[in-house]
Amino acid sequence: MNKTKHTISFLDVERILECIEKVQEASLTHLIELLRVYMGTKKVVRLVINETEWELVEPIVTQLSLEAILSKKKLSQVNADKFGNKFMVSVNDNSSTGYRALFLGKGKEVFQCARAEDEGESSTLIGMLLEIPSCCTNFYAKNIQKGNDWLPLWLKSSGSNRLFFNPLGNRIIANITGCNLAGDYLPCSINCEQTHKNAFRGIEALEQVGFENIINQIVPKLEWPICFLEGNIIFLTDATRHTKFDNNKLLYEFSQGSLCITGANKKKLEKTLSKANRLHISRDSLFFESEGKSILKSSLWNSSIHSVSQLYSSKSYFLAFDRFDLK
Ligand SMILES: [Zn+2]
Repeated sequence: MNKTKHTISFLDVERILECIEKVQEASLTHLIELLRVYMGTKKVVRLVINETEWELVEPIVTQLSLEAILSKKKLSQVNADKFGNKFMVSVNDNSSTGYRALFLGKGKEVFQCARAEDEGESSTLIGMLLEIPSCCTNFYAKNIQKGNDWLPLWLKSSGSNRLFFNPLGNRIIANITGCNLAGDYLPCSINCEQTHKNAFRGIEALEQVGFENIINQIVPKLEWPICFLEGNIIFLTDATRHTKFDNNKLLYEFSQGSLCITGANKKKLEKTLSKANRLHISRDSLFFESEGKSILKSSLWNSSIHSVSQLYSSKSYFLAFDRFDLK
């Protein structure tokens, strides 16, 4: 990839940071997107913002010479999955308070996006204008928009388990860190190449403004191994792998109390695993161990997830990541 150096003043970087800080629904992901807009590797970014925040942000975007258009329609949360992803839709609501979509950018796409949102255009068209990969917008339109649970479908399309996936496609980590590198959308799979490219462009944008410390915070988290068990997600936040991937067994060691668990039955699972310090994966089973003794055993799905009920069953599913291809 050809790297184009964009000059960006320290003052403008400060302004971009200030914009993001003032918007409660904005995350590090949006900061990366806004940096990319400023540097010319992305045309428009969409933020969810309320009136009070907009009053604070408007003068800053003017100083940044960015086009900014607020959607006329309000946004209302229609759904949230059990892992914290919120889904919002446009509604007809004339009240003065509430959330709207704010489109920021440098060209005609800003206006096109705002108009498409207000006219209730398809998610595929809006996705195209926001430069979301077409494979991902098609996946969203076909599967998620109907109200289906995103996670099992994403895992299903990601293929069989116990492979080392590229961490740049790891969107699930955003559930607890609030950040992914690729952008504010649901990728079609962990293996989505366009998403990997977007994530790399995100890394590039952070490098160009000297935010290597943010990259160094995010990338190791994207590599945390993840285990799905009975509708819960277990993040192995400080695990060290001790065996090479050989299709038969994997061994991770971690410190007691370092597992991060989210999901419906997390209290029970946190208690069971409070003393765990090892995860051992054999061909068809997964064992959490404490001082060499097994404290939780679960059967592993040996092929890809095929349905929602499988993900929430008693069997477990494991994702491992490796930094083999960050470009
Ligand atoms: Zn995709």
